[in-house]
Amino acid sequence: MQASANSETTAIVNAVVYCVDDAFSCHNPGTVVFADGVIGAVGPSDATPVPDDAQVIDARGRLAVLPGLIDAHSHSSLLKGYSENAQLMDWLPEYQREHQALTSDDAYYGYLVTYMESLKGGTTCVMDMYRFGQRGAQAASELGMRAHLVPYAADHPTKHFFETLETSEQLIRDCHGADDGRISAWVGLEHITYCSEAMFEGARELADRYGVNIHTHTSEQVEEVEVVVELFGDRPVQVFNRWGILRPGSVLAHCVWLDDAEIEVLADTGTGVAHCPVSNMKLASGPAPLSKFREAGVTAALGSDGGISNNSVSMWECMKVGSLLQKVTHLDATAVTAADALRMATIDAARLIGIDGVVGSIEAGKHADLITVDLWQPHLLPLALSEGHDPILWNLVFAGRASDVRDVWVQGRRCLDDGDITRLDESAALEEIHARTVDLLHRREGVAAIPMVAD
Ligand SMILES: [Zn+2]
Repeated sequence: MQASANSETTAIVNAVVYCVDDAFSCHNPGTVVFADGVIGAVGPSDATPVPDDAQVIDARGRLAVLPGLIDAHSHSSLLKGYSENAQLMDWLPEYQREHQALTSDDAYYGYLVTYMESLKGGTTCVMDMYRFGQRGAQAASELGMRAHLVPYAADHPTKHFFETLETSEQLIRDCHGADDGRISAWVGLEHITYCSEAMFEGARELADRYGVNIHTHTSEQVEEVEVVVELFGDRPVQVFNRWGILRPGSVLAHCVWLDDAEIEVLADTGTGVAHCPVSNMKLASGPAPLSKFREAGVTAALGSDGGISNNSVSMWECMKVGSLLQKVTHLDATAVTAADALRMATIDAARLIGIDGVVGSIEAGKHADLITVDLWQPHLLPLALSEGHDPILWNLVFAGRASDVRDVWVQGRRCLDDGDITRLDESAALEEIHARTVDLLHRREGVAAIPMVAD
């Protein structure tokens, strides 16, 4: 299959197309036609005309087409597998040794390796909290992906290695809206114990000035909430509300340990949640109250939390684990269906970060952020419907893997072709990434961890 130029018309025919629109339409066999980066038509193959000049990809019933997956909370990193076997409060200072040694070039390769993994797994858009965001824009741009870059910013004297409001402003000026709108920059705040009230005010003012949103993480672990209550006299979401960062467009990651009043605050302020089930299980944080978010009308989407606490940025694992965690927590086999999980990794994530008018579902007029998945494999068969039941979606969500993704288009541009990254030399990039990783590890060896809450 040749990569199509942006201006050419492409038609994927005879595919199993899950639109993830309001009706959760599935067309089997279905056709998707796109040109100039935009979806022109989607529907049943026998009722969706294909223009004569279209480059046609015949899926022969063996490829699924889904909206590009969206990772609503990630942390790029060059290192993973080095901070292990620890509870959050012990894990954080150990993880931050990487940041104490990190240079702009390290960050570039951290972004690159993370985004390569994301892209090969069908993720077309990442909300990424990391550092030296301009290098993230560079990596995303080289691969052709969308990225919402959020700096790890803090002003506590012991966290001097993180970004500041000044560098955050520079990132917005340099990158927000770049690459035809595929790159965005938001205002980020690191853990509340690293940021003063003045920094929260500054973050809100900065977000207002540039018309961008605010992202931070909170209430991941019981001990973390206890520290916040002790230091600030209230639970984290109440403190955020008092300090004015909760409003429509604001996104909080994790939110595992919220009480009912805090969930109400999220609903009242229009704040959304990036739920990271794999990370929450691996760091033994606990199950987030997903059903309560939904009942309260709080938008919740899935995030990987990055390789640092997950060892993977696969949204396939997030979908499966996100569903299983709710089922076992509530002892309810009907909790989080396959369709719910796919929504949380596509349209709900797009809504969370404010781009649902552009991507997140396969609908005429939206940008062509599309992936194909190879269904013709032992672990994804059978493809036959019986008594009106469609097993394909269930098998995709509960047996699908990142390596099943064959093709990726972002705004109509081919970024993955039969499993291969199209826009850079993958093996050369891996050599450079490995060399840089070894170098960073050497520099990190002499760095001592700084405790999370300093005196
Ligand atoms: Zn996180």
